[in-house]
Amino acid sequence: MQFSDFGLDRCLMSTVEHLGFTAPTEIQQQAIPAAMQGHDLIASSKTGSGKTLAFILPAIQRLTKNRALSKKDPRVVILTPTRELAKQVFSQLRLFTANTQFKAVLILGGENFNDQVKVLEKDPHFIVATPGRLADHLSQGHFYLNGLELLILDEADRMLDLGFAKQLTQINNAADHRKRQTLLFSATLDHAQVNEFANALLKKPKRIAIGSAYTEHKDITKRFYLADNLEHKEALLQHLLTHENYQQVIIFTATRSDTERLATLLTQQQLSAVALSGELNQAQRNQIMDGFSKGHQKILVTTDLASRGLDLVNVSLVINFDMPKHTEEFIHRIGRTGRAGSQGDAIAFVGPKDWLSFKNVEGLLAQTISFEKIAGLKAKFKGLKPKKSKAKVVNTKEASIDKKTAAKAKKTTKKVFHVAQDVGDMPIIKRKKPLSAQQIENNDIDEE
Ligand code: ADP
Ligand code: MG
Repeated sequence: MQFSDFGLDRCLMSTVEHLGFTAPTEIQQQAIPAAMQGHDLIASSKTGSGKTLAFILPAIQRLTKNRALSKKDPRVVILTPTRELAKQVFSQLRLFTANTQFKAVLILGGENFNDQVKVLEKDPHFIVATPGRLADHLSQGHFYLNGLELLILDEADRMLDLGFAKQLTQINNAADHRKRQTLLFSATLDHAQVNEFANALLKKPKRIAIGSAYTEHKDITKRFYLADNLEHKEALLQHLLTHENYQQVIIFTATRSDTERLATLLTQQQLSAVALSGELNQAQRNQIMDGFSKGHQKILVTTDLASRGLDLVNVSLVINFDMPKHTEEFIHRIGRTGRAGSQGDAIAFVGPKDWLSFKNVEGLLAQTISFEKIAGLKAKFKGLKPKKSKAKVVNTKEASIDKKTAAKAKKTTKKVFHVAQDVGDMPIIKRKKPLSAQQIENNDIDEE
């Protein structure tokens, strides 16, 4: 299949050709025609498989073909969970709108509110935004959504995880449902909260799932190392960073404070590292991302703030210094490498605190993972034994008393196990305390 088969406008085709893309990826082959036909979509495909173009192209195409419902209102809103990802999507969009009459603007948390009011007054056709700040402008009447034709949620599941459901619902309710098309994209869209949300927002959605994010990503080689404690992890890290071949590396830690601490430690070891976390102000965040994407540093130490969507071509190695709290973030973290057909390596350290998360990842990937060893840095930690389940106790204790009951108990044990695995595959995140506006605003609330 060729890009020319989609019947896209000439201005879009010339940009595709200019970028040197020869053929559409699988998700593009399926999602572009379906979106062009006006369907709502729930679309998933592995990390780095070109989902951004799969929504940008039909969005611009729609605007070139349809008359606007309103002269003032935005026609397309694209939402992403983090400011860094919104910036990236915006720059892709700008490439394609550059030789059209359409105006696109970027509205992010952490940036000057009044400047954004002025930008919104210019009646842009496209808004790319993070949900919190956009919902604020909507509440204050700085723009209206009656003319909205397309609502696109990139990394939709993550926005829900981060607690943006309220803002997404507010944005959805402000737009006319009858005329509006809605597209949901992510590598991981199969958890219950997404389904519930999709039922409320989407009209007869078409589901497009290219493979499963949990099956092997053939371009990413994974390795796991057992670790005893923090010092041991640091020794492993130093060893790997001085012995591995890589262009650029992203290291994921569990907490914000660890990013800074580790980056300082690596710098002391003459390695070129920089830390990115939600603790920094937006100007600092921009500066760090710009520097790293230009190759000024080799190592970026960050949190799950950067687990989603970022497309940095020179990242050939991802290190999970700590395992992620939310199982599916593992898929997204390692997906920062091995993009668009290139090869990448992913390493993870598994200490006692990471064990539960590691077992969840193992369940998610549906494979038994073995550990690599480095001479002189072998771990004493060998993993934790699973806790005995109640069902198992029933199974062993009562077997001698009543064979029938035992058989039944065994069946139940199996069933319980499967249910547990399913839940592991689809983590439903329930929060005890509602999140503060500041936590949501900072986008990396997963941290301590
Ligand atoms: P995803 O959102 O699925 O993780 P992206 O949209 O970020 O992936 O795209 C990953 C990379 O692939 C980007 O660098 C993008 O420019 C590139 N890309 C997109 N479509 C194609 C294509 N048809 N052929 C080659 N490269 C592509
Ligand atoms: Mg993406």
